[in-house]
Amino acid sequence: MNLELTAEHRAIREMVRDFAEKEIAPGAARHDRTREFPYENVRKCAALNLLGAMVSEEFGGSGLDTISYTLIVEELSRACASTGVIVSVNNSLFCHPVEKFGSEDQKRRFLLPHAKGEKLGCFCLSEPGAGSDAGNQQTTAVRKGDGYVLNGTKNFITNGVAADSALVFAATDKAKGHHGISAFIVEKGTPGFRLGKDEVKLGITCSGSVEMVFEDCRVGASNLLGEEGMGFKIAMNTLDGGRIGIAAQAVGIARACLEESTRYAKQRKAFGKAIAEFQAIQFMLADMATEVDAARLLTHRAAWTKDQGGRFSLEAAQAKLFASEVAMRSAVKAVQIFGGYGYMNDYPVERYFRDAKITEIYEGTSEIQRLVIAASLLKD
Ligand SMILES: Cc1cc2nc3c(=O)[nH]c(=O)nc-3n(C[C@H](O)[C@H](O)[C@H](O)COP(=O)(O)OP(=O)(O)OC[C@H]3O[C@@H](n4cnc5c(N)ncnc54)[C@H](O)[C@@H]3O)c2cc1C
Repeated sequence: MNLELTAEHRAIREMVRDFAEKEIAPGAARHDRTREFPYENVRKCAALNLLGAMVSEEFGGSGLDTISYTLIVEELSRACASTGVIVSVNNSLFCHPVEKFGSEDQKRRFLLPHAKGEKLGCFCLSEPGAGSDAGNQQTTAVRKGDGYVLNGTKNFITNGVAADSALVFAATDKAKGHHGISAFIVEKGTPGFRLGKDEVKLGITCSGSVEMVFEDCRVGASNLLGEEGMGFKIAMNTLDGGRIGIAAQAVGIARACLEESTRYAKQRKAFGKAIAEFQAIQFMLADMATEVDAARLLTHRAAWTKDQGGRFSLEAAQAKLFASEVAMRSAVKAVQIFGGYGYMNDYPVERYFRDAKITEIYEGTSEIQRLVIAASLLKD
């Protein structure tokens, strides 16, 4: 792996950084306060082809590599962590599995509009009784005639309020456990598919998290992604890639903490001098800077490993685990450096503090990442 970014990578990073600073950051506090889904951010990201960053150009994407994708998510998340995850979910959790496991017809019908950003996708694996234990799916899909009938409830679904299509996991044969789970694409407006509770959250408040309810919801057999029984494999493969996006989101939040803290420490005076002159503050900044770099390197290594075409579960888990904990530690330090002002929502570090926490929870908690890493160490 070459540690230097290519000229193309640097150009993408500069373009998205400039865009995010001018178009996304100014509205971030307002969206956080109102909890309104940032439709205009999604439209602007779509105009820059950021919604299908890694999808091949044939299917409406930008055909970029995974390192480029991490740069995009980092820059967006530095400006607005909600926008970062919205873009990440459409890319990693909807477009990727449809491109990898979908038929030619499904790619034309579903991938193309989502990769172009004309439509938005979401990923529905979690249920009230199936979070970390994702194999414990209670949502069922029963074969009836030339289709399937879905029944069940999904919760905490990012992008849910705005999504045009949902990738839904359901048990087609409970007796087979993980091997009895299948994946379906369900479009908004399908009879029997409705939104449930709109979640009020600690952070990433405008990412549109909702419950999704399926009551005798009928989809055609052509909406089955992959083969019957492949759903769990599709979900795990998808989450491996998704974790690289969340690692990048965490790096973006951590970097925002570092940059705001450095700026503030130079301005804020106590005992007649800038607080940046106190070694206690300098040490916090030094630790943040070192950890942000380390988190980004792990994230880029995971992205690079994925692009080599082999297995990357371990690298993705390590990147997600470390980067998310760096985001949280950086946010704690940032609030400390801001003192009482860090606790007020007049400054963005209060939002970063709330936003950082989710990176340790979704797409596999830190405990689940440790299990993935340990399993890799202990195999054979
Ligand atoms: C804001 C938000 C957005 C989300 N977006 C989506 C989405 O778009 N799509 C989707 O499908 N899901 C989504 N989720 C769900 C998310 O992936 C789950 O919340 C997460 O996987 C944890 O599951 P849980 O909440 O059921 O916690 P639980 O699984 O009940 O875990 C509770 C605690 O027990 C620990 N634990 C569980 N099992 C073990 C074990 N074997 N060993 C050690 N510790 C363990 C966990 O680490 C955690 O600390 C979202 C969640 C949130 C909060």
